[in-house]
Amino acid sequence: MDSVDNHQMCIDLGNQGDLVYQNHSPYYLEVNTTKPDQILNDNLLKNFGLLSEDQNEIKSIEIQLVNRGLKNLHNTCYINSIIQCLNVFSEYLNKLIEYKFETNDFMEFNNERFALLDSYCSLVYNGFNVNMDRRITIDSLTNDFINDFFCPFFENLGFIRKQQQDAHEFFNEFLNYNDRRIIEVELKKLGIEIENECQIANFDEHRFSLSKKFFSIDVHKIFICPRNDNHCIIKEELLKNLIELAIPFDTIEENLAKYFTDSVEKRCDECNSQENLQFMVQGFFENFEGYLIIQLKRFKFENNKFEKITKYVNISLSLNLTNFSSDSLFGKNETYLELAAISLHHGNSIQSGHYTSKLNLF
Ligand SMILES: [Zn+2]
Repeated sequence: MDSVDNHQMCIDLGNQGDLVYQNHSPYYLEVNTTKPDQILNDNLLKNFGLLSEDQNEIKSIEIQLVNRGLKNLHNTCYINSIIQCLNVFSEYLNKLIEYKFETNDFMEFNNERFALLDSYCSLVYNGFNVNMDRRITIDSLTNDFINDFFCPFFENLGFIRKQQQDAHEFFNEFLNYNDRRIIEVELKKLGIEIENECQIANFDEHRFSLSKKFFSIDVHKIFICPRNDNHCIIKEELLKNLIELAIPFDTIEENLAKYFTDSVEKRCDECNSQENLQFMVQGFFENFEGYLIIQLKRFKFENNKFEKITKYVNISLSLNLTNFSSDSLFGKNETYLELAAISLHHGNSIQSGHYTSKLNLF
């Protein structure tokens, strides 16, 4: 072993557990900005050295994030738990907040579409900031965020106020929403004005997608002929945001091994086989860096309803990805991930129970 790469891993929707509240987390944002945020008070601006300086100079502001409990506003624990987990993605949050600075709080954009992103950036920047302005309480920031989420603009997503819902669905929809807003900002820079949400759909896989940049994973799949293992075909796939992991086994590593191993029946062009052969399929992460988000599949659809799978899974604090990473296999590095956050569902049904989160686990 020449060196060990430590990346971060986040597990979404895991076992039952309790909320661990830690006052000072090691998460830092480093936001580059040319403009001071008007929400910050004068003292903070002085601390950041932003008051008397040339406004056009790019300043780097370091913000220390702390974990803070969020008020449950009528069954919003599924949202709160994801918001808390998102605090570990500091590069992602940096980008969002830089966009807020850069666009003067998205002032030139459609308020209906941008209100949620703006209130999210304020919640992170002011609510979880160790040097937050105490005149703005985290409760009022959370309240703004929840109100902006349950507005007519999001009604078609199917989230209903005051009902317990799926944290994983919220997570996906929220990343998609942020992606669409950033695409809109970037398109405006290119002189393309977006009139309505439908137009954005044409750009969903566009290069400006933040979740593609930070969370997507390239996977290599190697199909190996049973008659000759030199007869292999390599295909590439892009996983969107996270791995949905079935959990027949007791450990994450065993379940990942199962996830990456498969078999398909097909003809071999090189053997000129007339009949189908059983090809082994082996998957690998390609150029893995950054974050890995895993959703443990804890609900199964049976008898016309979702049932919770209560099976215990041993979640390692340090996950060895060496067997699943092409960097490790073809290079000399071992790849380990550190567990950064878990969103936990307690209870037996998808419509009930309670969500909490665990952060700073490593
Ligand atoms: Zn063959």
